[in-house]
Amino acid sequence: MTNLSDPVAPAGAPSGPSNFVRDIIVEDNKTGKFGGRVHTRFPPEPNGYLHIGHAKSICLNFGLAKEFGGKTNLRFDDTNPSKEETEYVDSIINDVHWLGFDWEGRLFYASDYFAQLYEWAVQLIKAGKAYVCDLTGDQIRQYRGTLTEPGKGSPYRDRSIGENLDLFERMRAGEFPDGSRTLRAKIDMGSPNLNMRDPVMYRILHAEHHRTGNQWCIYPMYDFTHGQSDSTEGITHSICTLEFEDHRPLYDWYVEQLGIYHPQQIEFDRLNLTYTLLSKRKLLALVENKLVSGWDDPRMPTLCGIRRRGYTPEAIRNFCAGIGVSKTNGILELAMLEHFVREDLNKRALRVMGVLRPLKVVIDNYPEGQVEEMEAVNNPEDASAGTRKVPFSRVLYIEQDDFREDPPKQYYRLSPGKEVRLRYGYFITCTSVVKDAAGQVVEIHCSYDPATHGGNAPDGRKVKATIHWVSAAHAIDAEVRLYENLFVKENPNETEPGQEFTANLNPNSLEVLRGCKLEPSLAGADAGNRYQFERLGYFCVDSESAPGAPVFNRTVALRDTWAKIEKREKGK
Ligand code: ATP
Ligand code: MG
Repeated sequence: MTNLSDPVAPAGAPSGPSNFVRDIIVEDNKTGKFGGRVHTRFPPEPNGYLHIGHAKSICLNFGLAKEFGGKTNLRFDDTNPSKEETEYVDSIINDVHWLGFDWEGRLFYASDYFAQLYEWAVQLIKAGKAYVCDLTGDQIRQYRGTLTEPGKGSPYRDRSIGENLDLFERMRAGEFPDGSRTLRAKIDMGSPNLNMRDPVMYRILHAEHHRTGNQWCIYPMYDFTHGQSDSTEGITHSICTLEFEDHRPLYDWYVEQLGIYHPQQIEFDRLNLTYTLLSKRKLLALVENKLVSGWDDPRMPTLCGIRRRGYTPEAIRNFCAGIGVSKTNGILELAMLEHFVREDLNKRALRVMGVLRPLKVVIDNYPEGQVEEMEAVNNPEDASAGTRKVPFSRVLYIEQDDFREDPPKQYYRLSPGKEVRLRYGYFITCTSVVKDAAGQVVEIHCSYDPATHGGNAPDGRKVKATIHWVSAAHAIDAEVRLYENLFVKENPNETEPGQEFTANLNPNSLEVLRGCKLEPSLAGADAGNRYQFERLGYFCVDSESAPGAPVFNRTVALRDTWAKIEKREKGK
């Protein structure tokens, strides 16, 4: 049994890097503020698919609760019926599970609390703390004032309690059209915090809700919903992003005025990544305008997109743990996320050989019809992954890039007269080339040294390059999709006047290669399987892959720019 007032993480829990939210929890456990309880929630609005920014929030909420032996609820913040859909609810449930977290049956919806919220609104009207206002949205904004000017009271601010109760009841009964009236909290039009200048609590919206159907035609605002939902569920630490800092006084005001249990809101920094947009609204625009193939396009920063791309939940969790949390917003290098993906895949991905842009090689002195099974290591990082046999024969494919007829200086790969090692194969030397009518090299001829079986020369002679290859007769054909950043600008929101963020889309973000040649062990690989193609990067089988027509996504190339940056920084 874990001693909940003990700030030390329970045995076996990940201790993780220190962060200020954890420090607050440790302190609260010390003072007994919540009786040693830790109960968090992840509150997505079901108006789009989750992205890597949400993963930061999920890992923080579930991770901290787990560390302190507490609980985490999944709660859909579904107060906006016009933008919300069941498809999004289902995808969010799936994505949180995939990331590796479980809410143990505590799945809630803000819409579960609509009746209670209505009662609470009535309670505030009766206490003279809320009123029905007939100003339009534009008028409310005008009356609100600005950061430098105080607001003006609504002409409806002093309606009697009886009239307010009657009008609010009739708002609920559907007597008034959309936007004609609101229920507002009566707080302080002179407050320096604009959120406290009589914020709207309820609006009229004759719209069908994905769960409550047409039961309601008035809907509570986020601010009037969130704190009370937290309170109802006994949340201790209500962790949200920094843009809600100015809403905290209102969060506190509602639960205090209602006299209900008071959770603590704590704000942390949103995740921002270079070359990436993390806004559901903008991601939806990409999907709706068919600028990507869907929410799960492997170029999207959505969890379903990066899952399809080949990212692992472990890599994402390690990334989120590694970046920690802070009280100021910043932008992280996308390369840093990719670094965590590589680090994880390096440990688990089986090595295979595949040729993306094939060049035919004929080994003239290798016996026609002979096939040898060469032994190849599955993962040098993991001896338990064992070895496999890769067929070697007289006709092979190598990468076009691995041959130059006129090699520049320092080009150590294959060229006429040069010897290289075929990985797990033999040493070969290029003897001649065959060109087509246009003068393009279409085939090269080589000789091999039979004494170098397995790729080692008994006389100890060295070659400067080891290249990958696939036996032509045994290769499987595949489509391989290579990806670059979705946007060309570090900050995709930075545009010329009159331009949309879509002007920054990278026209080369997807390159489709057909007729790639892969070693035969990849035949029948299941969608989602991940591999390292030697020298080329990490790849995974795409969901569009079919028997006999395999499709692979490049998850990430091997070159680790982040590791380089880190090394350079350390060297300073
Ligand atoms: P978006 O701007 O993408 O629509 P949102 O904040 O409106 O995001 P919600 O569904 O309301 O999306 O988010 C659920 C939770 O995830 C909230 O607590 C929110 O603060 C958090 N969250 C959303 N985006 C990020 C991000 N980029 N980094 C960290 N947390 C995030
Ligand atoms: Mg939101």
